[in-house]
Amino acid sequence: MTARTTPSEVLLRASDVTKHYPLRADGFSRHRRVLRAVDGVSLEVRGGETLGIVGESGCGKSTLGRCLVRLTELTGGRVEFDGQDISTLSTRRLRPVRPGMQLVFQDPQASLNPRRRAGDIVAEPLLVHRYGDAAAVRRRVAELFDVVGLAAAHLDRYPHEFSGGQRQRIGIARALATNPKLIVADEPVSALDVSIQAQVLNLFADLQEEFALTYVFIAHDLGVVRHVSDRIAVMYLGEIVELDETEALYKEPAHPYTQALLSAVPDIDDGADAPRRERIVLTGEVPNPVDKPTGCPFRTRCPYARELCATERPRLTPTASGRHTACHFPLID
Ligand code: SF4
Repeated sequence: MTARTTPSEVLLRASDVTKHYPLRADGFSRHRRVLRAVDGVSLEVRGGETLGIVGESGCGKSTLGRCLVRLTELTGGRVEFDGQDISTLSTRRLRPVRPGMQLVFQDPQASLNPRRRAGDIVAEPLLVHRYGDAAAVRRRVAELFDVVGLAAAHLDRYPHEFSGGQRQRIGIARALATNPKLIVADEPVSALDVSIQAQVLNLFADLQEEFALTYVFIAHDLGVVRHVSDRIAVMYLGEIVELDETEALYKEPAHPYTQALLSAVPDIDDGADAPRRERIVLTGEVPNPVDKPTGCPFRTRCPYARELCATERPRLTPTASGRHTACHFPLID
């Protein structure tokens, strides 16, 4: 077992992370255009906590997740994991760091090699990191199957012989194989039936407790994120527009975009007596990340936009009451 981070320590720190994809110049312009998938994100994740990242499809949350574990090279900025700057490490120097941070993918069907047996899929990272001889690896794989609620008798089955929920358990077992501190889970339940989602979310919670894991949990579903996250970061057009403790953010969003997202979520968890949120229907399309609006990225759809919003980009800063939002006119001070 590697030493665990105590809950107050920062395990992961992203500073002004950008991921831009240059596009080919079109026939009308000689300028190369740039898709700004992640555009200046800074955040911290403390050991043992779950940070949820939410936003609509295409907001850059999956790209950010891959940047955080350096599965994607950064265009700019810096990522520190466990006190070490991993953004500039060579492939060779990154290798010993890799076991400590793992990714769980959205679609278990697509992320598991259909031609390999489930046991071999889980064993792969153990072999890469030279865990031990064949017998030791087999024992460890059987142990991991047990930990995620799969029968060790099914080690030799192929992915298609498992249900969707079981396939996601294989993906989780594989991520756990190297005894990581951090797991970035990218929409890990969105491809599953609602009835199975709860089981897999409970498994994530149990594993976090048992192994003191730290999660970055990426989802578009605010309901899902609320149940698993200590804090939540809301993304829009490659930027974090609000980042706060889960309950505070759900009760009183400080950013107009968070308010609109929440207004579309049924508030069944707040009890029958809780005041109902007024539904806010955003007008206009999400702008193309190649042609981001000047100033605030949300200004073209924001019902509260004023002149300043078009000229100055708001930064994620604390309000007087200690909330963190990127808005010139936050909904709460
Ligand atoms: Fe709306 Fe302006 Fe705040 Fe952006 S900065 S969210 S446009 S009020």
